[in-house]
Amino acid sequence: MRIAVVGTGYVGLVSGACFAEFGIDVCCVDKDETKIRRLRGGEIPIYEPGLDVLVARNMAADRLSFTSDLAVAMEGADVVLIAVGTPSRPGDGGADLTYVHAAAAEIARTMSRYTVIVTKSTVPVGTGRQIAALVRDINPRAEFDVVSNPEFLREGSAIGDFMQPDRVVIGADSDRARAVMDALYQPLIRAGTPFVRTGIETAELTKYSANAFLAFKITFINEVADLCERVGADVQDVAAGMGLDGRIGRPFLNAGPGFGGSCFPKDTEALVRTGRQHGAPVRLIETVVDVNRARKRLMAGRILQACGPDAAGRRVAVLGITFKPDTNDMREAASLEIIPLLQEAGVTVHAYDPAGMEEGRHLLPGVVWHDDAYAPLVEADCVAILTEWNEFRALDLGRVRSLMRRPVMVDLRNVYTPAAMAAAGFHYCSVGRRDAR
Ligand code: NAD
Repeated sequence: MRIAVVGTGYVGLVSGACFAEFGIDVCCVDKDETKIRRLRGGEIPIYEPGLDVLVARNMAADRLSFTSDLAVAMEGADVVLIAVGTPSRPGDGGADLTYVHAAAAEIARTMSRYTVIVTKSTVPVGTGRQIAALVRDINPRAEFDVVSNPEFLREGSAIGDFMQPDRVVIGADSDRARAVMDALYQPLIRAGTPFVRTGIETAELTKYSANAFLAFKITFINEVADLCERVGADVQDVAAGMGLDGRIGRPFLNAGPGFGGSCFPKDTEALVRTGRQHGAPVRLIETVVDVNRARKRLMAGRILQACGPDAAGRRVAVLGITFKPDTNDMREAASLEIIPLLQEAGVTVHAYDPAGMEEGRHLLPGVVWHDDAYAPLVEADCVAILTEWNEFRALDLGRVRSLMRRPVMVDLRNVYTPAAMAAAGFHYCSVGRRDAR
């Protein structure tokens, strides 16, 4: 079997490398020629644990190749995966399908045999049918089926998520396409992975519903955290007590600065728009979007408050700028909103992140960057943990204290405990807990 993957971002590159690992012949295509040049030279343009080894192994085995020419990738391909971006459309929050439509049009022009066109990108209900109409329009004689196969991998654990997924969702409406998808996923079918086989619209909506539900869980626990602070309860224990209930589950009940990243913000907004368009508003998710949007500003206020009555002229050390650990992805990261608000208040921000600084330098002007977690702390009036990278979990608190001008920590990820921070002599402020002050 041979497949083409259009788009070598987080989803395209990981899916391509993993399918190659399954023994399939994979050609990945991207219109970004610099990316393709780097990949051909063995360089991985994103930070994703284990991906370098997987790509190198499959390139060496001649199962994984890269090109910027879609026609080359499509030669002899049984399946083409569309894994391009679907960002938020400015203005109405709907998914911008420009890249998906462009990819589908290019596929239509280069198709020469029966091909299954698979949308791995997250696309609103109805997009699969639109793609089919577009392809038919451009190439009326083309033999093809469109399948929706949304991707559920998480950045930071993408390979494991792809190789051992909780489930695979396949939306198809022809037996021929279903048979090709079964062949593609043979190793996972044999391993007993649950498959949800359904229609195209159902598969498209499943992805949005899953992401919206997870975003809802995060937002819910954030509001509970605010309530905990008012009544003297501890959100970590509330989450533990709730999460042990098998119907609820502990994941995604971590209070913090609100969700960010390349998926939840745009996917919740797109679902809101789809609901309104079809006269079935998803009011819970409309609220989730609003509550989450307001939260970053509240968190910036928390840091400013910890700086003391006059924040102007203070120095804040920020640890972590990516939207979550183990990725270099900065899309919709809390830092992008919080740091400029601190700077507006006259604060000087010094920062360190293990993987996000290359991009951070362009996105966050005026920040002073450092090469390790301790360097930004020198003479700082406050240290704020924005991303819970493992290397921030066991800081030498004595050293932290000795470097800082004032021992103040704002821990927006609840990495430390109030008791430990009180013992270490810190004024400590976290989320949803009675803090040491
Ligand atoms: P990304 O922005 O990292 O990568 C997209 C790539 O597509 C870019 O390299 C871009 O140059 C390329 N591209 C765009 N148009 C092209 C074209 N016509 N031909 C060739 N290449 C083209 O995006 P991503 O994060 O991998 O997300 C892709 C899709 O998968 C989105 O719909 C997203 O919502 C969804 N998704 C993402 C994740 C995630 O964790 N990032 C998880 C699940 C689903």
